[in-house]
Amino acid sequence: MFKCHDCGHIFDECEAETRNEYHSEVPGGAYERFMCCPCCESDEIEETRRCKNCEGEFLPDELIGGYYCEECLKASLTAENFIAFGKDADRNMANYQLHTVEHFMLVWVFGVNDKDISGSSVEFRALMEAEFKNAAEAHRTAMKCGTDDKFIEQIWNYLEDYKMLDDFAEWLYEKEVKK
Ligand SMILES: [Zn+2]
Ligand SMILES: [Zn+2]
Repeated sequence: MFKCHDCGHIFDECEAETRNEYHSEVPGGAYERFMCCPCCESDEIEETRRCKNCEGEFLPDELIGGYYCEECLKASLTAENFIAFGKDADRNMANYQLHTVEHFMLVWVFGVNDKDISGSSVEFRALMEAEFKNAAEAHRTAMKCGTDDKFIEQIWNYLEDYKMLDDFAEWLYEKEVKK
């Protein structure tokens, strides 16, 4: 399948239009054949790939980490998945280094500046993890009562800001495949 960068239309090879463009600059002249979008005739088309979850057709850069569309990846982001992903991402970190979940709490929830963070410790991390679990619990209650406190959205924005969405997608894919 192909997708048009200009109008977003998704189509297969049989549907694609071909356009011939005459090149007079070539000695004797020549026609160049283009495959183009059947809707808008743009030649800005690209072969699509499938989201590993919904199997929808997407442009390669629309698939996060090359695996999931944004909607599917967003839907699978939970507090539990974030903790498990963080544990995996932090596995080679020393105790004095700041780990993923505590970094999220400090920077996004408590609003601390990255440059003011010097390091961490086992005790501090336990405290931050407890804070995270409290926030996750409060989020569950809020959702049950029909209000969204944007906690998961904050985690998403954090992952996006610190360029971790690709890693999260890869982690999720490995987890889903090994399941
Ligand atoms: Zn088009
Ligand atoms: Zn999807």
